[in-house]
Amino acid sequence: MNQNWHGTLIRHMLLLVTACLVMGLISGYYGWSMAAGLGIYLAWTLKQLLRMHEWLREQKADEPPPDGYGLWGDVFDSIYHLQRRDQRVRGRLQAVIDRVQESTAALRDAVIMLDSEGNLEWWNRAAETLLGLKTPQDSGQPVTNLVRHPQFKEYFEQNNYLEPLEIPSPVNDRLRVQLLITRYGNNEHLMLVRDVTRIHQLEQMRKDFVANVSHELRTPLTVICGYLETLLDNVEGVNPRWVRALQQMQQQGERMQTLLNDLLLLAKLEATGYPSDNQPVVVATMLQGVKNDAQALSAQRNHVITLEIDSQARLKGSEQELRSAFSNLIFNAVKYTPAEGSVHIRWWADERGAHMSVTDSGPGIEAKHLPRLTERFYRVDSSRASNTGGTGLGLAIAKHVLLRHRGTLNIVSVVGKGSTFTCHFPSSQVINS
Ligand code: ADP
Repeated sequence: MNQNWHGTLIRHMLLLVTACLVMGLISGYYGWSMAAGLGIYLAWTLKQLLRMHEWLREQKADEPPPDGYGLWGDVFDSIYHLQRRDQRVRGRLQAVIDRVQESTAALRDAVIMLDSEGNLEWWNRAAETLLGLKTPQDSGQPVTNLVRHPQFKEYFEQNNYLEPLEIPSPVNDRLRVQLLITRYGNNEHLMLVRDVTRIHQLEQMRKDFVANVSHELRTPLTVICGYLETLLDNVEGVNPRWVRALQQMQQQGERMQTLLNDLLLLAKLEATGYPSDNQPVVVATMLQGVKNDAQALSAQRNHVITLEIDSQARLKGSEQELRSAFSNLIFNAVKYTPAEGSVHIRWWADERGAHMSVTDSGPGIEAKHLPRLTERFYRVDSSRASNTGGTGLGLAIAKHVLLRHRGTLNIVSVVGKGSTFTCHFPSSQVINS
């Protein structure tokens, strides 16, 4: 390649002008000689341009550029090198893409890329087995047309993908898949799908086991408690040394019965993802009833229980389930708040939905316990809880009921001041009358 093409160009131009001048000197026509010289140069330049055009148009993979002279040779070489560099970069990028595609294709989990509208762009082989996607027919199709489970449509459209979704696979009802969506780039979606059939089966076995054991224990326990009651009803005929023992047995028997009932209720709540019935529930009236029961529970401990109804909004759902969730929260407030303390219940609605809160002036709960409070059998202070006869399942039940009603439970507590448990229900669950 000619590095010093400036010099060469000037030399050539000078040579051309000199040749033209000599021609002019010989012929006496300086003007014509110059014009002829320039014409020849222009024709030569056009020829080089045409050669380049042809080379670029018909270029095959690695075909070197045509031989060029002077500046043109340099231009040909530069273009050729640029192209080679571009090819090498493209080759490297393609290799990276191929490796990524090969590794994702080998994954047992499905990886699906969707555009910002939710149309399928790319997926790996596992997506075909787990979701039944077909290559290439399904490319560009909206994902909600191919995964038609109603829960998926709702999940996809709500745009909040913090929690994964578990549904039966569209290919096979016995397969259980867990979907997790992440947004990236220009609002595109990356969907990961895992086969969780085994975990689901184990979970199902656990639920069935708890439900069956609770159910089976109920009958013997009813018999034992029945006899204990009969014995204590005829206390004169019982050896006085045994009376205290019998009384304690009866007390613990009753506790076990409540525990079994709570476990069975939880098992029932877990069995389906939606309430058993979906009726408009008049929350204001229900809360009035629960407040009266709470007053009865407080009895001699003289709590000041107040109810503030700021809305007549009704909730879609199961009255029985909602009553059980609200009672658990309100009774907890009474149970854990010392005598003469206050419990304030509030029901209100705003543009975000409807809300029920219970605020007490009880001992409060340390922040470190709050995230685990709704776990089964989780207790802040087991000695305090066993005095109140709690089962440790109350908040777990409340959380499940709320989940089934698309609600959330929020707990705010200050040690020594009290706690506020708030149930939030989205507008879609509220009937404003
Ligand atoms: P339990 O049947 O023991 O009351 P829950 O699931 O209802 O079980 O509550 C779990 C734990 O949360 C309780 O053991 C108690 O320590 C704590 N807790 C619940 N409500 C309150 C409250 N209003 N004030 C203080 N602690 C509470």
